[in-house]
Amino acid sequence: MLQGIAASDGIGLGRVMVLEEQSLSYADLPPADPKAELARFREAVEAFCRNTQKQAELLRHSAGHKEAQIISAHIQMLSDPYFCGEIEKRIAGGQRAEAALDQVSQLFIAMFLASGEDMIQQRAADVRDIRTALLCVLLGLKEIEVSEAPKGTVLVAKEISPSVAAGINPKNIVGIVTEIGGRTSHSAILARALQVPAVLGLPGSTTLLKPGSYVIVDGTEGQVIPEPDPVVAGAYRQKRARFLRRRRQLDKLRGLPTRTASGETVGLYCNISKPEDTDKALEEDGEGVGLFRTEFLFMDRERLPGEEEQFAAYKRAAATLGDRPLTIRTLDLGGDKALPYLNMPKEENPFLGLRGIRYCLQHPEILMTQLRAVLRASVYGNVRLMFPMISIPEELIAGRALLEKAKAELRAQGVPYAAELPVGIMVETPSAAILADVLVKDSDFFSIGTNDLTGYMLACDRNNPQISGMFSSLQPCVLRSIRHVITCAQEHGVPVGMCGEAAADPLMTPLLLAFGLTDFSVAATSVLPVRAAISRWTLEEAKAVTAAVMEMTSEEEVSRTLSARPETQIL
Ligand code: PEP
Ligand code: MG
Repeated sequence: MLQGIAASDGIGLGRVMVLEEQSLSYADLPPADPKAELARFREAVEAFCRNTQKQAELLRHSAGHKEAQIISAHIQMLSDPYFCGEIEKRIAGGQRAEAALDQVSQLFIAMFLASGEDMIQQRAADVRDIRTALLCVLLGLKEIEVSEAPKGTVLVAKEISPSVAAGINPKNIVGIVTEIGGRTSHSAILARALQVPAVLGLPGSTTLLKPGSYVIVDGTEGQVIPEPDPVVAGAYRQKRARFLRRRRQLDKLRGLPTRTASGETVGLYCNISKPEDTDKALEEDGEGVGLFRTEFLFMDRERLPGEEEQFAAYKRAAATLGDRPLTIRTLDLGGDKALPYLNMPKEENPFLGLRGIRYCLQHPEILMTQLRAVLRASVYGNVRLMFPMISIPEELIAGRALLEKAKAELRAQGVPYAAELPVGIMVETPSAAILADVLVKDSDFFSIGTNDLTGYMLACDRNNPQISGMFSSLQPCVLRSIRHVITCAQEHGVPVGMCGEAAADPLMTPLLLAFGLTDFSVAATSVLPVRAAISRWTLEEAKAVTAAVMEMTSEEEVSRTLSARPETQIL
């Protein structure tokens, strides 16, 4: 079994077709007539634009409008006067068209890669595609065609360019395996839009997988199984059938509101940790973001991100979501999330130590930078601010005071921000849960963090295998605290969501609906499964089962009772 990156869900079983890389070598001799060479280059550009236009049309039909734009953007890039102008200047100066194209492409690729920003780095891949396609035209080579591939083909290639992907007929291509690429690469986006299972980033796959051999591509797990025995192949065929049945059921819920069987609507948002995750959130039909874990912007680097860098990240997320809410949680460091470059002191009990808002209040300059960046981004979308690990009201008051200070600074500088930026808190400590009736007076919304709340309520470390059996959000003490928090919020007309893992647990669904949770925030891949879980309950049924469950005193009984209900069965 070979392990790569799971880039497009599903299982494909078929025969390997290896796409050989074309040799794009040329003799770098100066042309006799630079004018004629320039004309040859311009003709090639025209031919490239015509081909690309055709490919975009094909993609529009097979994948969709947004996906087609990936390659129609190549035409726009070629009309960039700087890119083309630079090439033409070199040709006019006596260079061969191929060499000029090569050199200018390499310059652009290096420049985009050096940016360090995901979105801009992606443009390097665009330039690479343009270079390959244009070189093919100049050298009179035919680009690789996959439209003729027979039914049941697994495409194996170093990399699949969008122009090659345009030729993919999802009826014939059952899987894609590449050596280069990851979840956010164009090949991954296109594979998902075409609903073809894909495993990317599998080095050596073009030599390891033999042309014509039978393989299984498991795009959900990121695995490729070469030449499986009949028992394994049979098991995967069944897995494939289950996957397709489930996908058909879930696809029916795309674009629909999240609603119970009796018609009550709730919000269904996503948890993200990078601005680019908003793309995936929308792709999976999330209605916004209920938790942006901003600490991930601070990790894997040498120093704190500055205000400009944070502003760019929040603005990108806010603008992508448009009217949909973007809930930005301030830095939640400490516990198991330390930043080496901050030299945070070693603690005896880090989960009970300088965590979340506690750390930020002791280092107000770090929080102020973040608050200014969030405020500045707030004019680009529907932003909400959330403080983590609140345990006593003074922390919320101090956090709000710093926010007011940040607003005053921006006002004095004439920098715009959303004056009515909603401010909420994570309810994830027993103290905050019990004091919910007090904290609610100073909060525009609550979000229940069951990951921490469960651990703290039970005084149980979820990572300790000796007691992991105890760690469950279905423990009666956790359920009672969740009910209390939701009741307090309801009494004050304050929206209350949940962003811990329990929000995606189908066993929790009837309880959360019956308590009156207003929104669920889950991993992007859980959006449609949770929408399905919610749609299976009427409020009356959910309330009836909840009334029975809330009388129970053991987690085992709660879990057994809910698991026995047909509504909680995963499709
Ligand atoms: C939680 O505690 O439930 C939560 C969502 O926060 P995190 O998992 O980031 O601690
Ligand atoms: Mg937490």
